[in-house]
Amino acid sequence: MQQICPECGGKMIYDVSTKHYLCNKCGLYVTREQLQELRWKLRQLPEDERRKKKRMEDEYLSWWLSRKR
Ligand SMILES: [Zn+2]
Repeated sequence: MQQICPECGGKMIYDVSTKHYLCNKCGLYVTREQLQELRWKLRQLPEDERRKKKRMEDEYLSWWLSRKR
């Protein structure tokens, strides 16, 4: 199965002898477990940022609306 680098989006080559994935673009060298962990972290972060931003926008909107009245 072709793996995509979580750092740069490049193609990753699986080295059977060392059981590591190597990115041919940025040189990221990780195990399958580390790769999944990185993916999970990267997926979680933008989600949190988005939620924080949305909450700030909601707060600003309610403040703006209450001020106008
Ligand atoms: Zn890469």
